[in-house]
Amino acid sequence: MIFVDSKYIGLISSRLQLFKKVKPDLYNFRCPYCGDSKKHKNKKRGYFYKTKTDFNFKCHNCGVSKSFTYFLKDLDSQLYDQYVLERYREGLTGKASVTPEQISKNLSINQSSRRRSVFPWHLLMIEQGIILSEES
Ligand SMILES: [Zn+2]
Repeated sequence: MIFVDSKYIGLISSRLQLFKKVKPDLYNFRCPYCGDSKKHKNKKRGYFYKTKTDFNFKCHNCGVSKSFTYFLKDLDSQLYDQYVLERYREGLTGKASVTPEQISKNLSINQSSRRRSVFPWHLLMIEQGIILSEES
């Protein structure tokens, strides 16, 4: 749920390097999975972006892509437990929002029909100069 997700993004933002809110539904920071660029300390290619019901994480350096739920689980399992409880209180767990079962179902459906995210990454990357300054 967007409200709960936004709240927890706020709670972990201080632990994400160079965290910045780009837009109300888009956050940018250094990717904690790959550590982002070693050469350029100001590079940040990790994103939270909004889907219909949740936030997703994606890194354009290492390619890790997962729902905010799993990102939080990796980062802080205690906070993750709180988050799950809070979503449960909001009455969303297992129904309207993403659950592990739903993710695997969606994956098997999406992988045959449509692999690419509907989010216009190329536009964002051009906007932020990422495409123009690619590095290995
Ligand atoms: Zn990464």
